[in-house]
Amino acid sequence: MSINQQSYAYGAQKSSIREIAAYGARRKAQIGAQNVFDFSLGNPSVPAPEEVRESIQRNLSLPPTELHGYTPAAGYPATRKAVADSLNRRFGTSYGTDELYMTCGAAASINIVLNAVVNPGDEVIVISPYFPEYRVWIESAGATCVEVPADPATFQIDPDAIGRAVGDRTKALIVNSPNNPVGSVYSLQNLEDLAAVLRDREAALGTSVYLIADEPYREITYGAEVPWVPDVYDRTLVCYSYSKSLSLPGERIGWVLVPTTNPDHDELLPAVAGSGRKLGFVCAPSLFQRVVADCVDVPSNVEAYASNREALTSGLSRLGYEYIEPQGAFYLWVKALEPDAKAFFLKAREQELLPVPSDSFGCTGWVRVGYCVSHETIVGSMPAWERLAGEYAR
Ligand code: PLP
Repeated sequence: MSINQQSYAYGAQKSSIREIAAYGARRKAQIGAQNVFDFSLGNPSVPAPEEVRESIQRNLSLPPTELHGYTPAAGYPATRKAVADSLNRRFGTSYGTDELYMTCGAAASINIVLNAVVNPGDEVIVISPYFPEYRVWIESAGATCVEVPADPATFQIDPDAIGRAVGDRTKALIVNSPNNPVGSVYSLQNLEDLAAVLRDREAALGTSVYLIADEPYREITYGAEVPWVPDVYDRTLVCYSYSKSLSLPGERIGWVLVPTTNPDHDELLPAVAGSGRKLGFVCAPSLFQRVVADCVDVPSNVEAYASNREALTSGLSRLGYEYIEPQGAFYLWVKALEPDAKAFFLKAREQELLPVPSDSFGCTGWVRVGYCVSHETIVGSMPAWERLAGEYAR
């Protein structure tokens, strides 16, 4: 075959999360939506805030050529200024318009950053369990994906393990906090320990290692502070998206921040722009750039997820399930009732429960239960979780 084999393989294999969701949709059509408990996708059930609708309506009165025309490749200056001002208010920084590049969501942000920094043969570290698309994006940028397990007790980063994995080909490390799939938030101390290890390794090897902070869940937390990574480590680039915070996953809008505090800023910013150009990710959706400018400080509806989290964790702990207490995002990392998470998933599926087995995230023995579903789905699923636990008690 003469077509691109890597692309063929990514298309032919499909994402296992999407396959489970597609099964869920088929099953709902067969037996009724209320009888299937699909916890597979990270698709927010919370509606976008009213301010988003108002902004869309206001912007629709603009002349169509102005509303739907191309924007500058990096995005409208007014939008980038609104984002920079918002970050400066929140983190006491002094970012400017030129440090931001608007993108089509976090997927585009991370692809742009990876393609801006890696050369063929480089390595990029991910902390397992990890969002599965990272591997696809790293490999398609020509790099090798190196998995380093999180601390198995706390699911925080294990800085010593990272130190052992960093070699002269390591170009970057992706950190995702609040974390998908575990829900952990990396503490300031943990990030500082990581930064110290990275600086030591850079000095020993004479290389530069970039931290790619993937933060689509930054605002979705349950009391935990999410440290601002550029304050901890200079060679940071931040990738952000409004898919989760404003419930806009279908609109494809986010940004990359290349802070001037990053010592390689002068080279990185053109590389990010060039990478966006190379990948065809220029000029993020124009209407939603305007919406972002209007809604940059609108809070996320965390209460809805907090109430789902409470219903799910209290229900599952009553039934004897073990899980990692989520500090952020909207996923619960539940210990499978047998070592083989896929086998556990198949038993769960018999009860019409659809979590995602941890093998998809690079580790064994757990499942991810997404609680960005309706509250009724969580409450309604409890008898099925009880029957599933009963299967193992026999
Ligand atoms: N990074 C993480 C950790 C995610 O969970 C997701 C989506 O679920 C993405 C990136 C991609 O986000 P987006 O929809 O903005 O492309």
